[in-house]
Amino acid sequence: MGLIVQKYGGTSVKDAERVMNVARRITDAYKAGNNVVVAVSAQGDTTDDLIEKAKEINPNASKREMDMLLATGEQISIALLAMAIEKIGCPVISLTGWQAGVKTDTKYSAARIKNIDTERIHKELDSRRIVIVAGFQGINKYDDITTLGRGGSDTSAVALAAALHADVCEIYTDVDGVYTTDPRICKEAYKLDDISYDEMLELASLGANVLHNRSVEMAKKYNVKLSVRSSLNNNEGTYVKEVSQVEKMLVRGVTRDNDCARIALCGVEDTPGKAFQVFEMLAKAGICVDLIIQSIGDGKSKDISFTVTEGELDAALKILEENASMINAREIKSTKDVSKVSIVGAGMVNNTGVAAKMFEALYDAQINIKMIATSEIKISVLVARNQAEAAVNAIHSKFLSK
Ligand code: ADP
Ligand code: ASP
Ligand code: MG
Repeated sequence: MGLIVQKYGGTSVKDAERVMNVARRITDAYKAGNNVVVAVSAQGDTTDDLIEKAKEINPNASKREMDMLLATGEQISIALLAMAIEKIGCPVISLTGWQAGVKTDTKYSAARIKNIDTERIHKELDSRRIVIVAGFQGINKYDDITTLGRGGSDTSAVALAAALHADVCEIYTDVDGVYTTDPRICKEAYKLDDISYDEMLELASLGANVLHNRSVEMAKKYNVKLSVRSSLNNNEGTYVKEVSQVEKMLVRGVTRDNDCARIALCGVEDTPGKAFQVFEMLAKAGICVDLIIQSIGDGKSKDISFTVTEGELDAALKILEENASMINAREIKSTKDVSKVSIVGAGMVNNTGVAAKMFEALYDAQINIKMIATSEIKISVLVARNQAEAAVNAIHSKFLSK
């Protein structure tokens, strides 16, 4: 008898019909003789709606109370899904994160799973029950409910698969698998049969939200067999594994990330230690800086620009303004009107001219590049947000058209 962990995302359980559809898929796997543990997300736009509700009352609510609120979305899903399975006539039990033994650190709204105490789940599986676990949530050492960050149910599923030594972890979503780019913004995008953990991790971290990046990190660490597939058909999905069949493809995927904002410190003194001063104060405040660019100084002044997530823009500006006399910039500018577009591929490392080809695609589409960053496995550019989709399409057809 095998042990399967499945995960169903918000669109897969958005209404009663979809919940029944998912219940049938789960019970089919169960009736085939498997033990089945399922992680499930909040229905449809529930999490967004809950965030809006909170904002109406207090836009600066504490992260602890936000977690308390957001975790309720998944609690609705587990109960409804368990009821649907009861109706089909299979033994089932729903468990919240804490009932399932999901222990996290104390970082509210972006908690990391430390371990899963699997005793309760094993007990239920021993009674041949299907176990439905609330994704996205856990409990910390203060017995407080925590959440894992947006999209975190994928990570709940992989963590369960690792802790239970499951044979496979199946992520069911609203697309057929991992595509060369987001199929919603590029008609030419096509599904990949497989992809390596490293490439998938990079894609997920750069904006391909089909998988939560921490889920990929964890799958790699614990060697979890991971597949991404549709909850609406039986098509073969994408396998995420150590080594992919199409080894070292030049470019494997294109991503767009709208969750960024740019800050420019114009006319700061051109002396040693300026960058250190600025980035140390941001780091101390726990603010992650992504792309950085510094202009060539003329001995008197220079410009330093960098990006942060949209959510951290206000906090970053506040710190910079509090320290304005020390930074002594002529002007501090910021904009949310930017997106990061990236290409990812393990084969880039040994190939020259990849960056030039990407920039040519952008030039042909008359898209201006605001910032550039490269690593062995990726190249990212910052462009105006209203040109990001066009950039993805131009780059995709340059590297990945069939
Ligand atoms: P779920 O609710 O199932 O977790 P998500 O909305 O989080 O679903 O993720 C699935 C969505 O990810 C797809 O509908 C698609 O628009 C988007 N996406 C972005 N990049 C990719 C990609 N490279 N391959 C597939 N889907 C992608
Ligand atoms: N419900 C959470 C979210 O919308 C977690 C998830 O869907 O994975 O981000
Ligand atoms: Mg998701």
